[in-house]
Amino acid sequence: MPTITPENPHPGQESFAPRHIAFLSKTLAMDFLVPAYRDQFPDAAFYLGDDLQALIASGHSDDVDVAVCWHPPPEQLAALSGLKLVQSIAAGIDHIDLGSLAPLLPVCRIVDTEMGSGMTAFVCWAVIHRQRHMDRYIEHAANHRWQEEPIVAPVRHRVGIAGMGSLGLSCAKALLAIGYDVRGWSRSPKDGLPADLKTFHGQAKKAEFLSGCDTLICLLPLTGETEGFLDLALMRQLPRGAHLINVGRGAHLVEADLITALDENQIGAVTLDTFNIEPLPSGHPFWNDERILITPHIATRTAPRVIAQQTALNFAAIREGRTKEVAVDLERGY
Ligand code: NAP
Repeated sequence: MPTITPENPHPGQESFAPRHIAFLSKTLAMDFLVPAYRDQFPDAAFYLGDDLQALIASGHSDDVDVAVCWHPPPEQLAALSGLKLVQSIAAGIDHIDLGSLAPLLPVCRIVDTEMGSGMTAFVCWAVIHRQRHMDRYIEHAANHRWQEEPIVAPVRHRVGIAGMGSLGLSCAKALLAIGYDVRGWSRSPKDGLPADLKTFHGQAKKAEFLSGCDTLICLLPLTGETEGFLDLALMRQLPRGAHLINVGRGAHLVEADLITALDENQIGAVTLDTFNIEPLPSGHPFWNDERILITPHIATRTAPRVIAQQTALNFAAIREGRTKEVAVDLERGY
């Protein structure tokens, strides 16, 4: 059997390539993706913006095979009745209104080592920045002050990762390599993880997991079960003064509860990369709160080339009847 690779995802079966690809987003100009898709699918036609609207209005939009999505307008998705693949350009699919899709239509996400290493670098930085008091050194240096802050060895700092998926595991391995005392929490039990990674799963083990997180990193997908995960009850189960890092989704965090936990000194520091409303409005109180370090949803990215390659692999897998291998389990939500 010929080998399937990103460069040649449908060897000897060129008809397995999509012919009409639409780019859908309410929030992002998607034209930055087109050159990579043109390289990957030289024979395909591409539709976005006004061209896509015109195609839908013309009544010929059932030719579109693939919808490439980031917060896609539901009415546009629903109008593309010939879709064979809905491709999220992110690791999550929470930005897609699944109600606008035909039943059984495959939805795929990005699973990518470049995305994993980007997230791992960000998370290691965020942990170290607070654990080694780099925020204070920046302030001291601005005041020409030579001042040492307490140094705690990584092995005596417990880092917990909620979400032991492709990104969580990548972060866990790097934090272990640095020497941190790392624990991970997932929905189901996991095999084959590093022996020095402490693992917990399910609601029954959540409190025990949380009680050992001097730093807690949220790397969960956003689902009905995980929305509002970072609430006051959870924060009160962490060790006092814990550092909270949210690189999942804004809706994981109950914003008002965070302020209460900070005011109680229950949470000592916060690093937030994702927010309920993005961009975070300039009048939002988080901007003025020096206990909260804000980054603008930049923890990691996937190169357009990789998104186009994964689209090719996913499309070929679906046409070959291997949908289960590549599609998100919509029942589970991630
Ligand atoms: P993934 O491979 O699907 O892993 C998800 C993990 O979360 C799994 O370990 C899963 O448990 C666990 N989980 C799901 N629901 C749970 C629940 N109710 N209770 C406990 N554990 C639960 O996802 P990923 O690729 O690592 O990505 C994770 C998330 O990171 C994405 O969904 C996205 O929200 C976020 N993200 C953010 C950025 C950024 O720039 N800030 C970039 C990329 C991704 P099981 O292992 O038992 O299934």
